[in-house]
Amino acid sequence: MTKIGIIRCEKNESKCPLTGCITCLAQGKQAFSAYDATELAGVFTCRCPGDSVENMAKILKAKGAEAIHVPTCLFASKPDGEWIMEQGGFCPDIDQLAARIHKATGLPCIKGTAHLPEGYTPKI
Ligand code: SF4
Ligand code: SF4
Repeated sequence: MTKIGIIRCEKNESKCPLTGCITCLAQGKQAFSAYDATELAGVFTCRCPGDSVENMAKILKAKGAEAIHVPTCLFASKPDGEWIMEQGGFCPDIDQLAARIHKATGLPCIKGTAHLPEGYTPKI
């Protein structure tokens, strides 16, 4: 059982209640398919410019998270009904953000949760 922390983006905090993220995590689908079993350790919301992300990641680790995922909508979008990466997502600094989360905690920070764009495989 791997405990997962999620750090979402403030830009859709009042539009999406993480339904797809949590469903995929619970069912071991999409970005969670590589784990034997997963359990949600907790969720934080990042706020621009992301200064607190290290602290949030450290708290998730202290609460038992063994890996941290950032939602697919941070680096992908759905302009015409299909999730694609070409136009990016909510966060222009997602790669730097993920690297900072990893550096602060030593935990893997994986880009992706639900509805992965075609051809994209999360690196764990
Ligand atoms: S990845 Fe999808 S389900 Fe998860 S927060 Fe973004 S829009 Fe919502
Ligand atoms: S830094 Fe990125 S993930 Fe954090 S709130 Fe801003 S756009 Fe969203």
